[in-house]
Amino acid sequence: MAGKITLTIIKPTAFRNNNAGAILKMINEAGFKFKALKLVKLTSGQAGLFYSVHKDKPFYESLVQFMSSGPVITALLEKDNAVNDFRTLIGATNPEKAEKGTVRYLYGTDLQQNAVHGSDSDENAIIESDFFFSKIERF
Ligand code: ADP
Ligand code: MG
Repeated sequence: MAGKITLTIIKPTAFRNNNAGAILKMINEAGFKFKALKLVKLTSGQAGLFYSVHKDKPFYESLVQFMSSGPVITALLEKDNAVNDFRTLIGATNPEKAEKGTVRYLYGTDLQQNAVHGSDSDENAIIESDFFFSKIERF
């Protein structure tokens, strides 16, 4: 059975461009509940750890630099079928290929600066939630 949680990050450019409010509203209106939420600035070490599955990819260094370039909002979200429904809400990785009306279509500026992160599996949703949130930060 599909899990009920997913982890998102509103990436530095989307936050800097004042799109966080609109994105959080879209998330809420799509039926996700906020179980945890905070504003943080990652060090390059922390961003590197978060994206360690991509460490052999050509875009890794640049991605780590980007993700540690400014504050981000991260949230633990709850909904039935959370991982898949959230990826539908945000659209394809490349904003140019994302469906109209999706978060990445509306707020992504390029393949790297694609506005938001979304977990890719139930297993990673748990790992990523544990990366950001302690027990007393979850509701
Ligand atoms: P997703 O975020 O859709 O799960 P991936 O896990 O494949 O996508 O990649 C993680 C992040 O790395 C993407 O959201 C994007 O910011 C960046 N990225 C992915 N592919 C590329 C690429 N070819 N060039 C630059 N950045 C990329
Ligand atoms: Mg991914």
